[in-house]
Amino acid sequence: MINKTINTKDYDLIVIGAGSGGVRAARIAANYGAKVAIIESVRVGGTCVLRGCVPKKLLVYGSHIAHEIEDAVGFGWDIGSIKHNWSKLIKLKDNELDRLNNIYLNLLSKVIIINGFGKIVGNNEVEVNGNIIKAKTILIAVGGKTYFPKLEGIELCINSDQALDLKTLPRSIIINGGGYIALEFAGIFASLGSKVTLVYRGKNILRGFDQDISNFIKEEYIKNNIQVLTETKINSIFKTHKGLSVILSDGQEIISNEVMFATGRVPNINGLGLNEIGIKTGDVGEIIVDDKNQTNIQNIYAIGDVTNRINLTPVAIAEGQVFSDNLFGGMNKICDYENVASAVFSQPAIGVVGLNELEANKLYAEDGGIDIYKTLFKPMKQTLGGRDTKIFIKMIVSKKDNKVLGIHGIGDDMPEIIQICSVAIKAGATKSDFDNTMGIHPTTAEELVTLK
Ligand code: NDP
Repeated sequence: MINKTINTKDYDLIVIGAGSGGVRAARIAANYGAKVAIIESVRVGGTCVLRGCVPKKLLVYGSHIAHEIEDAVGFGWDIGSIKHNWSKLIKLKDNELDRLNNIYLNLLSKVIIINGFGKIVGNNEVEVNGNIIKAKTILIAVGGKTYFPKLEGIELCINSDQALDLKTLPRSIIINGGGYIALEFAGIFASLGSKVTLVYRGKNILRGFDQDISNFIKEEYIKNNIQVLTETKINSIFKTHKGLSVILSDGQEIISNEVMFATGRVPNINGLGLNEIGIKTGDVGEIIVDDKNQTNIQNIYAIGDVTNRINLTPVAIAEGQVFSDNLFGGMNKICDYENVASAVFSQPAIGVVGLNELEANKLYAEDGGIDIYKTLFKPMKQTLGGRDTKIFIKMIVSKKDNKVLGIHGIGDDMPEIIQICSVAIKAGATKSDFDNTMGIHPTTAEELVTLK
């Protein structure tokens, strides 16, 4: 982190937190001519760049190569003996993060970057490194942090931040949770050869996703030798000479090299001074804001995961853009949270946009109901590749007006495909629009325009 000299104590805007949302807001405000400071206690980049999306996806790419090597044999490649070097991958990933950190620093060339922990001490005042700095407007963009449930031995467990920096590939790992992070890391470790056990307290992993997606990814993970234990909790963890002893709610003991908790994230509000100055927060500590990102204190705003709306990088970036366009660009925008597509970079990957079957059934029950179209097929690559994996796609359509309400899929290319489907859904595309579109053959995506 470069600590630029603070040559003034008065700003138009102080942003606390230099993650994706904060950086976007600071950069755009400065481009409009505002005098902006951004305070960051770690490095510029935030969760997405340093501890989330980017390093995770690099490890997904790195680990997925194991499947491609397996496929290669079916296409005539003589692979011989090859092995993976985990610590090398971690080092290369870290080099890339340094490069991105520099890009982020360059993006902030018109912004004063202050390395330290910011605490709001007045409506216009932030304390950092023992100095008080003042601003007309304060933007809180501090993101979220890992949540660990309280249980015996939790201090022996790692979170996703630590999983991204492990010195060696664990021979075995238990991952607690059934959400995005649990599934993504289960895929990474399993593909690289760790023995993975996924422990989930509920019945269906990926709660909130379409039921078919939840069932299908579970089947795929079991095929990939991941042990999936549902309706199971971790009761306690102990250190033994054989490794970590994990006692499950059914009394079973599993010994594992590592235990990772991916049990959700919470707003990162500790020490920010919110209570002292009376900023309203909700049940999990999220800062309550209106549709213009304004808190109950007129000149204090919040964006991104700390507001716990839709906790995704592109959403935080959009909120940062809207904030600065409104405040410093004289616009009157609000963020559009409808049909936000998302992906789980499991292996195979998941892409979803719009309503799932349960939600659509409820919403459209008195409005004509819904039609469901599904396809399940073997990817063409696997006719020779030979791996036992399938692709699944599901489309939900309103009976009344033929509008596509949701698309859900699993397959390696699904995040890329769903991103473009989200444009069609936002544009109000009907099933007939999809049907009237020529496919590109042979692709996975053509299935979407030939669904019967
Ligand atoms: P999620 O909310 O997706 O999943 C948390 C999981 O932990 C759920 O399965 C939940 O179970 C379980 N859980 C929660 N509390 C406990 C507990 N006390 N004991 C046992 N299990 C528990 O959170 P993640 O940590 O996976 O990810 C955090 C957020 O980060 C995501 O919601 C997403 O917004 C974002 N993210 C997005 C990614 C992407 O876009 N690809 C990738 C990674 C993260 P239950 O279902 O029963 O509540």
